[in-house]
Amino acid sequence: MEKILIIDDSPVQANFLHSILALDYDITVTNTAEAGLEQVRSGEYSLVLLDVIMPGMDGFQLLKMLQEEVVLSHIPVILITSLNDIQHEEQGLTLGAVDYITKPFHPAIVRARVNTHIKLYQYRTQIEREATVDQLTGVPNRRRYDRISVKRWQDAVRLGIPFSICMFDIDKFKVYNDSFGHPAGDKVIRAVAETASSMLRRGTDFFARYGGEEFVALILGGGAENDFAHLKKVRQAVEDLHIPHNPEVSQWVTVSIGGITVVPKLGTLYDNYLKMADAMLYDAKRFGRNRVVWTNEKMEQWREK
Ligand code: GH3
Ligand code: MG
Ligand code: MG
Repeated sequence: MEKILIIDDSPVQANFLHSILALDYDITVTNTAEAGLEQVRSGEYSLVLLDVIMPGMDGFQLLKMLQEEVVLSHIPVILITSLNDIQHEEQGLTLGAVDYITKPFHPAIVRARVNTHIKLYQYRTQIEREATVDQLTGVPNRRRYDRISVKRWQDAVRLGIPFSICMFDIDKFKVYNDSFGHPAGDKVIRAVAETASSMLRRGTDFFARYGGEEFVALILGGGAENDFAHLKKVRQAVEDLHIPHNPEVSQWVTVSIGGITVVPKLGTLYDNYLKMADAMLYDAKRFGRNRVVWTNEKMEQWREK
């Protein structure tokens, strides 16, 4: 059930709205804008019904604050108010409210408008999700990676903590496709994604499909030794899936992984380190595939096997 937040200083008014919507939605009520703001920050709500005139912070002020916070600005807000003049309505809509309902209101109208905005919200959320998730594997896609990598890099710079970038590539995958067909290849990509992502699901981890048969993982705060050790386990887990490869190439499907750990400094470029992770991947291929090769800012190199 979608969650709706009602922010209204009048308990009578709030209860009335509650009674109109309670059958179809999970409703929370707060009586001040300040308490409302705290609730909205929880990120659970699909819609806010906001009274305009309230003691303390009023509805317009709250709406303005919500619009200024990137993560909150996408939550639809319907203003509900007795201010039924054009100027106030215009002000509310200009501030970013999706709708404006004046009191006294008719229950059926409120329900209909709320239903519409909830549907729009669900639709938009679904589109956004689809735009950032890889269709084949269900893991984040390249577009999401492009956005997240910048943010994570900035977090690491700000916090002064180690940051690891690792590139994965399925070994001899062209041969796999040529031997077993493209649909079978797709299944392998899915299995590898599932295995690796299931081992990289902490809040400080990020795993995405980089493209084709390549994946990328970002790890915050782990450190070179830990992350190298962990990625060796991930590599082993893929081998342990025991997906038969073309025997002329290898017994099982495997991945090669190249990684780098640095404590990034302000002004250093993410892309330079990504290139180094890529160079490590290249080395992993060169040294015989199915292995992890790692480096750090001193250019020391660790090789598995
Ligand atoms: P290497 O061990 O050096 O990585 O060899 P490789 O054959 O894996 O490397 P190459 O880059 O030559 O081939 C990658 C193959 O991955 C070729 C391409 O057809 C296949 N591939 C890329 N994306 C997909 C996909 O979405 N599905 C399937 N089935 N195959 C894909
Ligand atoms: Mg490749
Ligand atoms: Mg490959």
